Amino acid sequence: MDRELTLICSACTQPVIQDDGYLWVSCREAAAVQQAYHALEKRSTDPHGGSLSLDLADLLGLPEPATWRADHRDCDPVRDEGFHYRIPAARLRLRADLLDWTAHLLEKAWLPHTDWRDVLRETRTGSARISVSGPRPPARLAAI
Ligand SMILES: [Zn+2]
Repeated sequence: MDRELTLICSACTQPVIQDDGYLWVSCREAAAVQQAYHALEKRSTDPHGGSLSLDLADLLGLPEPATWRADHRDCDPVRDEGFHYRIPAARLRLRADLLDWTAHLLEKAWLPHTDWRDVLRETRTGSARISVSGPRPPARLAAI
């Protein structure tokens, strides 16, 4: 079956074309980012009025979102890690597959603390972790 999306292994930089890999994120890392946000929110909220006042330095000190990575299963040095959320390459062939995954992942409280939005944006032009092929909408139809 033709693909619109091909994962590119972060370890060996080769495409994942035999469905022998996945896109993954560390749920542990995403949860740590989420916890840092919650901690900042808690210490920045007025206990009496409930208003939130954020300091720029605190915002800049927040951790970066957890990164989704693509890997061949055999290239993934932590392939047995149980806290990794994995999307098999076989279930990520079309842009529409990403819509389905997004609908599913929106149920996860940790999703906003990952770079999933970047993954979605990369389906327009491709990136180091995902290449795109197939018909693309004419530029005049692009929203951005
Ligand atoms: Zn590889």
